[in-house]
Amino acid sequence: MEDNKAYKDNIIVAENVSYTYTDNDDNENNDTEAIKNLSCEIPRGKFTAIIGHNGSGKSTLAKLLSGIMVPGSGKVTVYKAGDKEGISSDDENNDFEIRKTVGMVFQNPDNQIVATIVEDDVAFAPENIGIEPKEIRRRVDEALKTVGLTEYALHDTHKLSGGQKQRVAIAGMLAVEPECIIFDESTAMLDPGGRKDIMNTILSLKNKGITVVLITHYMNEATRADNIIVVDHGDAILTGTPEEVFDNEEVLKKCGLEAPQSTLVVQKLRENGIDIDARGVLDAQSASEAIDKALKAKKGVRDDA
Ligand code: ADP
Ligand code: MG
Repeated sequence: MEDNKAYKDNIIVAENVSYTYTDNDDNENNDTEAIKNLSCEIPRGKFTAIIGHNGSGKSTLAKLLSGIMVPGSGKVTVYKAGDKEGISSDDENNDFEIRKTVGMVFQNPDNQIVATIVEDDVAFAPENIGIEPKEIRRRVDEALKTVGLTEYALHDTHKLSGGQKQRVAIAGMLAVEPECIIFDESTAMLDPGGRKDIMNTILSLKNKGITVVLITHYMNEATRADNIIVVDHGDAILTGTPEEVFDNEEVLKKCGLEAPQSTLVVQKLRENGIDIDARGVLDAQSASEAIDKALKAKKGVRDDA
């Protein structure tokens, strides 16, 4: 049988998916078409960021990709490691397998904690999918270690900071041992320190071979990704590396997004007639390198003169 390209490269593939929230009052005019004929791919083992302004459809897309919701039309296929056929989210029989393969972490850490003791909370999800107690113990210890909360195993979940709670939620997800975790604005309610901790955790998950999808409105978080998907009005309108995506000033502006601060600074210099290469500038480090290069080039010209 011919090898399926999607299986080789992607863990989730969405093809022409649409999703409409229907009004409970049966008033058709109030239906919201949140996702419109959207296609996208989530590459296996990579870190993909999804960006887009409020209401563009990111959370709806995340729920479709994780099988929490089923598209009204189109198809979402999840490819577990070694599964060439893929499993479709519209078959109810696949719910359990998809839940074990793709996990989701949400925005509000308080809504995701169910137990009063940290390690009980982390054990909750693996218990729910019928993992044996001995294996649960191993997974809980490993998950807490991954998120840096080993010493908090017996702590009261209510007394943790927002960032720590979010790490407990991530540990609970890890204990299910999914191949992919989707974070829906999971850093949005945290202070800068908590955000940084979660970003570091996310990057360490990728290094462990877990596919990571991060929905974020922090552009400096998106620059850390391998790929970015830009969502606007329910469609994926732009996909590429951070360098490629943030070079599209016009498209970003159209969907109410801005490149990271460092990129903007260098783009502004270029707009003002400074001969500087703004491509690939995504953070303070690369901005300072580009400025340095531009200054040296200018000086070089003068030296020659
Ligand atoms: P984002 O996460 O990018 O802010 P969402 O996926 O939450 O976007 O929302 C996309 C659109 O769907 C918005 O217009 C929003 O108002 C609408 N929407 C989201 N959730 C619901 C819901 N449960 N019922 C009705 N409309 C919804
Ligand atoms: Mg959202």
